[in-house]
Amino acid sequence: MASKTAYLFSLIYMQFLLLQTLTISTISLPQDLFSLKIASKIRTDEQSILSVSTDYGNLTMLSPAAVLYPSSAYDISSLINFSYTSSNPFFISPRGNGHSINGQASALDGVVINMRSLGYGRSNRINVSEVNRYVDVGGEQLWIDLLHETLKYKLAPRSWTDYIHLTVGGTLSVGGISGQTFRYGPQISNVLELDVITGTGKIITCSKDQNSDLFLAVLGGMGQFGVITRARIALSKAPEKVHWIRLIYTDAITFTRDQERLISTKNRKGFDYVEGSFLVQQGLIGSWRSSEYFTDTDYDRMSQLATDHGLGGVYYIEGVVYYTEDIAAKVNQELELLLEELNYVPGYVFMQNVSYVEFLDRVHDGELKLREIGGWEVPHPWLNLFVPKSRILDFDAGVIKGVLNNNSVSGIIIIYPMNRNKWDDKMSTMIPDEEIFYTFGLLRSATRDNLQYLEEQNKKILEICKSAGIKYKQYLPHYTTTKGWMEHFGAKWDNFLDMKLKYDPKLILSPGSTIFS
Ligand code: FAD
Repeated sequence: MASKTAYLFSLIYMQFLLLQTLTISTISLPQDLFSLKIASKIRTDEQSILSVSTDYGNLTMLSPAAVLYPSSAYDISSLINFSYTSSNPFFISPRGNGHSINGQASALDGVVINMRSLGYGRSNRINVSEVNRYVDVGGEQLWIDLLHETLKYKLAPRSWTDYIHLTVGGTLSVGGISGQTFRYGPQISNVLELDVITGTGKIITCSKDQNSDLFLAVLGGMGQFGVITRARIALSKAPEKVHWIRLIYTDAITFTRDQERLISTKNRKGFDYVEGSFLVQQGLIGSWRSSEYFTDTDYDRMSQLATDHGLGGVYYIEGVVYYTEDIAAKVNQELELLLEELNYVPGYVFMQNVSYVEFLDRVHDGELKLREIGGWEVPHPWLNLFVPKSRILDFDAGVIKGVLNNNSVSGIIIIYPMNRNKWDDKMSTMIPDEEIFYTFGLLRSATRDNLQYLEEQNKKILEICKSAGIKYKQYLPHYTTTKGWMEHFGAKWDNFLDMKLKYDPKLILSPGSTIFS
């Protein structure tokens, strides 16, 4: 281990020297790159560079020297192999839809691969096998497009993210979670096979049975081991409609107890989707996530409820029941029985009926509204943690009541539990050791004036967890030191390092996560 780490550090040091040299020589890429067949697909103009220099987080500005617009996997393979065999290897990063927060899809002074370009003008990048119930989809495709295509066969993936204008490769590189995760696992648990281009430029097909070490490493692997160009994803019969329910709570004990009851594997007839939130008073005024759901009167009632209980906000469980018209009556009856078992504040149940697509694409409406008023492309100092169930009430006391209650900054606070047995611990996404753990998402938009304040609050939250001994794992992790990353991966660090040295021996790929660079 010691010699492997020493080798890693010597590689990083060599990259540092290389970067210094490149900086002095106007950060140029090796000139023979522009004699390759792919040269016409590599752009160095300002507009191309700027389009990939920042991301949804709007917290970093990391410019590559060039952008590749591939039209096939071979274009990507040629680029990576060229860097790998070059005496001056340079960084390369695939970029999906750029919805990272901290520059994870950047390649400072290297080449960013605009993955979306792979699908431009090609209608054959989403192929459904109706018989086998899976879809072969390009890594560059958006989940929303995948959904529309699979629905033509009345099929759909089972596991989603809340926002589905993200690429398949992008979410499989982090995990992909939402309210269905408790039942079907994260998106990475629903992948049957991948095509991956490694850090040497090799195109490898992998699955649990074939090149399984690469398969497991790539899922949740933050682009460290290769570029996903195709994923085979399991499908099920698609629901048509959903009952979309929100139940209000004024205390964390009842709120979490009901959430855990709903994700219990014994509770087979429960919700098909379970999430939850803490709506701070300020947030009650509205946010992209809930503005379309609650009416002004609902907000007033919840605001009054919070005030009556001396709280800075209220908790709500968000649940969904899928149905098709033919079983609507039966589903209604079951839902009524289920609601009777739950302990939300009487009278504070809200319900809507929407189509399956409307539900899955719910965040997009909020995006369009925010874009109109310039509220989308602002800094997003987000913090996402997985918190073990045994400490969720301590977390609530220290963080939600301690730091965020009565907070004058609006934003979205997500809290919901998941079952560990739906995850594969051998994949790269890190999760806590306990059977049930919660995801906590602090999804706030900042202005330049309050950005520092919010970032300091994020740090404070991590400090509170550390000093209380809460063994959280960061989701969409961001560390700036090797020590931070080693702690994040814990006992899995050695394997992560082994896989990196095996599949990306020159540490070329996805440097933006700053794990190895
Ligand atoms: P990018 O930001 O472009 O890339 C992300 C990382 O993946 C980078 O390291 C990049 O190098 C790598 N990468 C990209 N494409 C590939 C590829 N083809 N092969 C290998 N590596 C690749 N996440 C959830 O889990 N659940 C949610 O509910 C959720 N909601 C979100 C809502 C919003 C509004 C936003 C902005 C993000 C949300 N996310 C959520 C986070 C999101 O899943 C991740 O940020 C995801 O990585 C974004 O995908 P992308 O296509 O934009 O990837």
